[in-house]
Amino acid sequence: MAAQTGEGGAADPRRRVPSTDALLRDERMRPAVDVLGAPYVKAWLKGAQDAVRAGDLAPEDVVQTVLAQLPAAPITAVRVLNATGVLLHTNLGRAPLSEAAVRAVGIVAGATDVELDLATGRRGARGRGALEILRAAVPDAEDAYLVNNGAAALALAATALTPAHSRVPGSIVIARGEMVEIGDGFRLPDLLESTGATLREVGTTNRVTADDYAEAVDDTTAFILKVHPSNFVISGFTAGAGVHELRGLGVPVVADIGSGLLVPHPALPDEPSAGGMLRAGADLVTASGDKLLGGPQAGVVVGRADLIHAMRRHPLARALRVDKLTLAAFEATVGGPRTPTMAALEADPRALRARADQLAEALRGDGIDAEAVDSRATVGGGGAPGVELPSAAVSLPTGLAAPLRAVRPAVLGRVTEGRLLLDLRAVAEADDDLLAQLVRAAR
Ligand SMILES: *Cc1c(COP(=O)(O)O)cnc(C)c1O
Repeated sequence: MAAQTGEGGAADPRRRVPSTDALLRDERMRPAVDVLGAPYVKAWLKGAQDAVRAGDLAPEDVVQTVLAQLPAAPITAVRVLNATGVLLHTNLGRAPLSEAAVRAVGIVAGATDVELDLATGRRGARGRGALEILRAAVPDAEDAYLVNNGAAALALAATALTPAHSRVPGSIVIARGEMVEIGDGFRLPDLLESTGATLREVGTTNRVTADDYAEAVDDTTAFILKVHPSNFVISGFTAGAGVHELRGLGVPVVADIGSGLLVPHPALPDEPSAGGMLRAGADLVTASGDKLLGGPQAGVVVGRADLIHAMRRHPLARALRVDKLTLAAFEATVGGPRTPTMAALEADPRALRARADQLAEALRGDGIDAEAVDSRATVGGGGAPGVELPSAAVSLPTGLAAPLRAVRPAVLGRVTEGRLLLDLRAVAEADDDLLAQLVRAAR
């Protein structure tokens, strides 16, 4: 052997880096390669090989290190424990699916009778289970329909609900104070106009009356749109016209309630529900599936059968069609047990505080500067603006914020007044032990 100088010496860790091929052939790697695929596993091997090159990892430890790190599925998205105190966090995917919904997705993932009638062997109505459960949950609805999200429901309504005797989009009468931006620069008026519809704005930012609407309705009107101000509050010198005042103007009233409560919820008295809006006289209600409804991303449409028929038959409907995974998750959400979102909304603040006390005490036992504190959670995700839900949190040094985002599952809290708060309202009680472990690992 030559003198061990420069590159290529036998003791040089770079010479001892196990080759990718050798690692992929290693018996211990086989189950992971079968589940995740070789290209995905290779990317993780590369990281470990780099660590060997840098002298941070012994070559013989590469396999077990990679196996310990590999996720359960070949994706880049990671699981996050939502300790932000925002129940429906748009950046965290809004509503967490219930166990029932997750199982439902597993059942239909392969071949399924999504559009087949197994009794006759012929084509069946697509997603009938989801639509039947939705109709049953909103007894005031003549019919129900699902599209990809709340925005799609509005776009389809604007496109398909044309004025009488017209085949092209007409004007939509909408109050100035309801021309809302729902987040990330996304504005509902822009969406509506992108369909070719024109907007007839009525009233002022803070006030609108039923007469304003009546004056704006003419034979070009497709419908009146009422948009729930789901992420802001206008207070002070205000006046609005309720749905009940707008019926009888000769055009349909469409109510976009946003959050997707199917029936009223006592904890959120100001949040409209689909059933309540239909009873008040709305002809059609649109909403999101992944807000307070607690299910998968979807656009809920309930109301008059003739209007829903027009939407369903429009060519654009095919482009906004929901997939079988969504239909299954939606059906299991509406027809199954209480959702995690409802559990979080209805959690007893004293029980949350007891959990926070217990967690903080356990962490202090490990020498971590942890303290249980009272906190305030919000619904978020375009629901119940201004409503604060009493909650409890584990207060930690802010220096833990970044390490907690780096552990897996990641933990996202919120920084307030120089402390990192892990708010427990949106964390399932079953995850408390995991949360404690992750805080220890992040330290
Ligand atoms: C959230 C929201 C929407 C958009 O729904 P997506 O499901 O996000 O497309 C539309 N209108 C209102 C009032 C909302 O709150």
